[in-house]
Amino acid sequence: MNSLTDRFNRPLHDLRISVTDRCNFRCVYCMPKEIFGANYPFLQRDEVLTFEEIERVARTFARGGVRKLRITGGEPLVRRNIEELVERLAAIPEIEDIAMTTNGSMLSPAKARALKDAGLNRITVSLDSLDDDVFKSMNDVNFPVARVLEAIDNAVAVGLEPVKIDTVVKRGLNDHTLIQLASHFRHTGVIPRFIEYMDVGSTNGWRMEDVVPAREIIDAISGEWAIAPAEPNYYGEVANRYKYLDGGGEFGLIASVTQPFCGTCTRARLSADGQLYTCLFGTHGTDFRALLRGGATDDVLYELLSGAWSKRADRYSELRSENTIYLRKVEMSRIGG
Ligand code: SF4
Repeated sequence: MNSLTDRFNRPLHDLRISVTDRCNFRCVYCMPKEIFGANYPFLQRDEVLTFEEIERVARTFARGGVRKLRITGGEPLVRRNIEELVERLAAIPEIEDIAMTTNGSMLSPAKARALKDAGLNRITVSLDSLDDDVFKSMNDVNFPVARVLEAIDNAVAVGLEPVKIDTVVKRGLNDHTLIQLASHFRHTGVIPRFIEYMDVGSTNGWRMEDVVPAREIIDAISGEWAIAPAEPNYYGEVANRYKYLDGGGEFGLIASVTQPFCGTCTRARLSADGQLYTCLFGTHGTDFRALLRGGATDDVLYELLSGAWSKRADRYSELRSENTIYLRKVEMSRIGG
């Protein structure tokens, strides 16, 4: 069966599933502490999809062409027994790959093993700097680098590979520590990806002057080591890949601001409260939860999906301008990166 396609003929292929809007970090570019405080209206337990409901939605998306799932949050590991969900998703015959994005703070050896045994294939760990003071100022909960490096080792030890690193680069905050991070992961098989700071959501106070363009990051790294662009692994891959010519491995650039990649975007996002967003910078979602809890059949869910995807025309990063920055966009902590 062919994948559903949108207005630009982009096939539905990837589903990012946010399992919670909560997190134990307060990264300044995602969940600034002054907004996501004790009184912030986080989702209540009964508002969040159950594992059974998430599985039903994932099966519907698989019928529509999804082959890759990514479990996100907030921080997905704050959701108890998440390996149960992984097991359910791994049992969906069409699904070829299941990954997770985590801050690593709760990725103990036992949890890594449990996730691997449940069917998780790969893991991406967020780490914005190896400089402890810089990292602590960015996660804003004083969490040390050493504990995240341990989590990366735990993932490698059980074979959740290739382990990738997500590093959001903000000018004046961590851009002076990128070479240190790149150097640390050379010859390890772990793949860092440097991410241009984005105007996600409506709370991080984004300004263009705080963005370090991918070009600048490439110049800095190629000033240290000989590198060359590498072919994408698959259609719609988010990161531009680069290889070290001395065999030191690879790294990636995710340049949504200066080199938009909307033309090959095959990603759908499901929020923890059951809303489908067809773009990271979406302003409104399509409600699956009401149908799920209203006794809808699988065919009705599929109709909703195909209707939403076939009329999709998102290409926010290509259209980003002074007028779009202040749109009331969904928070990244609600739908995962
Ligand atoms: S801006 Fe939206 S459409 Fe463009 S690549 Fe990102 S998620 Fe896809």
